[in-house]
Amino acid sequence: MEPLAIGVMIGVGENPREGLRKVRELGVLTAQMGCPPEKYLGGEGVAELKKIISESGIAITTVFCGYAGESYADIPAVRQTVGLVPRNTRAERLAKTRAIIEFSNKIGVKNVAAHIGFIPEDRSDPDYQELVKALRDICDFCAKNAQNFCLETGQETAEVLHGFIRDVNRGNLKVNFDPANMILYGSGEPIAALNMLGKYVAGVHCKDALWSSEKGVFGQEVPLGKGQVGIDRFVGTLKSIGYKGPLTIEREIGGEQQTKDIQEAIKLLQSLS
Ligand code: MG
Repeated sequence: MEPLAIGVMIGVGENPREGLRKVRELGVLTAQMGCPPEKYLGGEGVAELKKIISESGIAITTVFCGYAGESYADIPAVRQTVGLVPRNTRAERLAKTRAIIEFSNKIGVKNVAAHIGFIPEDRSDPDYQELVKALRDICDFCAKNAQNFCLETGQETAEVLHGFIRDVNRGNLKVNFDPANMILYGSGEPIAALNMLGKYVAGVHCKDALWSSEKGVFGQEVPLGKGQVGIDRFVGTLKSIGYKGPLTIEREIGGEQQTKDIQEAIKLLQSLS
């Protein structure tokens, strides 16, 4: 794969052949993939999905974890329901994470990513210590097959994430850097965050957003280049930190408008790279 190859984030859903056909129609050759339905995660479904991917000619660069019961409706909902932070679902979600890591290895994907939730800012918080331990276990599980585990950015500041990565202290703990999320969650200026986390970045989302005027309320996701990330500076900073991975476009709306916005985003990235 070429450095900074343009790609898209896709959900696999019940019809992966159709999803991958849409990626091809966009004219890109790389994609990050959302968590596939259960039927593809184990047994014969894995080989079937691997064949579908192989026939599509699309390189899957990252598989994202997703967990039953998550809600991104607003910031309080994310805080309560997303990732590995909520205690009551942590054990079952850790088991699911291991299943996704094994699935990814079987289809030949090195990077597995997740929103793990809001990492506590207080390092003496028992939840912080338990998360550190959980992430060490996940990273050690990934290491058996030379895989990386990537933390999606946004829910905490770059400082908190940086400290957490150092505390976990595993070489295969990486970052999937989403600059728009820094704005959407109000977690800090994305380019400064990218510079701080640069050496850990194994994947990115090319996504844009406008800051919220109200603390604790989501900003607004907008088409790439129409927000406050500063996409030219974002791509320029990725080059300056030596990032060689794909530029994966993420547009979190559905329907035809999503396709149109992604087509425009591809053109914009082509003009910058
Ligand atoms: Mg993202």
